Amino acid sequence: MAHPKVREVRAFVLRGGGADYHDQGGGHWIDDRIATPMSRYPDYRDSRQSFGINVLGTLVVEVEAEDGTIGFAVTTGGEPAAFIVERHLARFVEGRDPREVEKIWDQMYFSTQYYGRKGLVVNAISGVDLAIWDLLGRLREEPVHAMIGGAVRNELQFYATGARPDLAKEMGFIGGKMPLRHAPAEGNEGLREAVDAIGEMRARVGPDFWLMLDCWMALDLDYATRLAHAAHEHGLKWIEEALSPDDYWGYAQLKRDVPKGMLVTTGEHEATRWGFRMLLEMECCDIIQPDVGWCGGLTELLKISALADAHGKLVIPHGSSVYSYHFVATRHNSPFAEYLMMAPKADEVVPMFSPQLIGEPVPKDGRLKIAELDKPGFGVELNRDLAMARPYAR
Ligand SMILES: [Mg+2]
Repeated sequence: MAHPKVREVRAFVLRGGGADYHDQGGGHWIDDRIATPMSRYPDYRDSRQSFGINVLGTLVVEVEAEDGTIGFAVTTGGEPAAFIVERHLARFVEGRDPREVEKIWDQMYFSTQYYGRKGLVVNAISGVDLAIWDLLGRLREEPVHAMIGGAVRNELQFYATGARPDLAKEMGFIGGKMPLRHAPAEGNEGLREAVDAIGEMRARVGPDFWLMLDCWMALDLDYATRLAHAAHEHGLKWIEEALSPDDYWGYAQLKRDVPKGMLVTTGEHEATRWGFRMLLEMECCDIIQPDVGWCGGLTELLKISALADAHGKLVIPHGSSVYSYHFVATRHNSPFAEYLMMAPKADEVVPMFSPQLIGEPVPKDGRLKIAELDKPGFGVELNRDLAMARPYAR
């Protein structure tokens, strides 16, 4: 059957929040003191922007079909990812039938494998893949969730990530995940302060609300194990991304050593079926947290998800806004979703990728009806009032 082919792929760079959600202005909780692997250097302890967390900015990928229909996606990657999309990946998409997502993904991945495999290159591949899925949905006039198996529930429920789990509880979320503020270089005093902060938050939210801790790769195995045991008395539900993403062996040991009932989660900086296979087969964690815009896109996430399902593990994507919502709706082993609280004080629900997407749905009372996702593609439009640069136009 005849089908419009792809006429052109375009890559743009956008600044100021959105998909690169670390690219925020001053005074935002996400750039407050948060423990990181760079916390060992006092100069880089107080702000993640001080070591360059926001240098990349947002990558926007547009895929235009011969009939003028345009699919798009946003992810992190900025100018270097725009180069990879325009100068390398576009050749595998332009002139092709956009239904060939498997072949296109395979060619993007293996043609870049000699310098790619993870990180920035896979962010770029993810952006192209998601833009193709958005285009397919627009051409077929179907939401993405309907193209990948259909929704298995009527609404999504969310936990909130941010500095104020107590406010998240008032807003109807099922749990709150707070950032760790102190790293091992700050010694036992930092560990005590971290445990006290969890205890103080537990007192505010009461005994039944889920309370989690995000460690953003900052810890070593010994410190993470001590922190997990010290926080157990405050009913910490999970300890997230405690170690370097490369330390599969450390994660496997941590999972064995945390208190019974506490979950170990990780994977937001992991990519592809092969990376997640390591986490799953080595028994590194209880929940994997692929970011849809970083792990290889939706085409790869479906494979990662099937692998996790066979291992009896949950897939709760990291952030990812609509790219997560359409996926989570369709999977039994994704029973809830993450909401990044992007208001500077984490005191109100604002669209996660604000201001880049128009029509981006937000949870109400911690929930989102699947009916709100019933629009073609990922159901959002790009905010074209923002200043977009196309640095590698061909
Ligand atoms: Mg995290």
